Parts: sequence; structure tokens; C-alpha cells
Amino acid sequence: MNNQDMLLMREAHIIKKILYAYSNNELHTVRHFMTDDLYKKLIRDIENDRKLGQKVCIEEVHVELQVNREFDDSDKHYIETICNCKNLKYVLKDNKVIGGSNEKRSLYSTKVLLVKDKDAPERTFITCEGCGTSFDLKTTGYCPTCGKKYKYEKYDYVIKEMEI
Ligand SMILES: [Zn+2]
Repeated sequence: MNNQDMLLMREAHIIKKILYAYSNNELHTVRHFMTDDLYKKLIRDIENDRKLGQKVCIEEVHVELQVNREFDDSDKHYIETICNCKNLKYVLKDNKVIGGSNEKRSLYSTKVLLVKDKDAPERTFITCEGCGTSFDLKTTGYCPTCGKKYKYEKYDYVIKEMEI
């Protein structure tokens, strides 16, 4: 398996985590995998659904990514991917399904844009600059001992654009 395949598998796994977290209203647990703007947008979407008295549920997620194109700007590297997603996605209101299906998996494709700093090492196991603890940034995005926060895109890709 080459590096790009490994990267796509890793990112597919992260997208799955995000979809489940979105569905369970636990988006804060995967916040570090996204840009702040995307995080805020998704939180707003959840909030809007809540106001409407409805909830988007996502189950049995299967994700596959393909590279569409890669490009750079002055300090960032981007990978635009096509995300082929198969899942049970449905909207609940008063315990009734009002959108999608909770019985049949549906297949859809959407664009997911990944970005990282150009010199990011694509390694997330680090030693904390603050307290010296070694840990994997993937778990939380901050040091488990002293709480120091890290900007994930300095180490690996974050998701900049994605539709749920
Ligand atoms: Zn620390």
C-alpha cells in the first residue's frame, strides 16, 4: 500500500468518526480534525435542526476517498477528494423518520477538502513542548497532561470543507 492509499484510509476513518460524532452531538470530541470554520458550520447545522425539533441520525457508515486534485498556496497543501459514502442517514422528528431511510443504506458522493501546512510531517505522535509528555495528537488535539492545545494542521491534514 503506498503512502497516498494509507492517507486516504486514515482520512476515511476520521470522516467516519466525524459523522458518528455529528449524529451523537459529540462533535467537540473530533473538533481538532476540522478547521474552526467547518466546526462552527456543523455546530450551527446541529443547532438549526434542534430548533426545528429534528435530529439527523447517521449509522453504519462506510467511507471511501479518491483524490480529485492536489494544489498548493503559499503555505498550505490541499487535497480535494471525492468521498463516496454509504450509510443509513435519516432525519427524526417526534421519533418519526421524516427524511432519508433508517432501513436502507444510501450511497452518495461529496467533495471533501483536506488541508495541512506545507511542512507538516504527517506524524501526530508528539512530545509536548509544555510538559514533555509523549502522546498522540489524534486522540484529543491537546496534551492529556498539561492541556496545551495544538494546531492539528501543523502535523497532519484537517478537513476544511465537507457536506454532511
Ligand atoms: Zn503537556
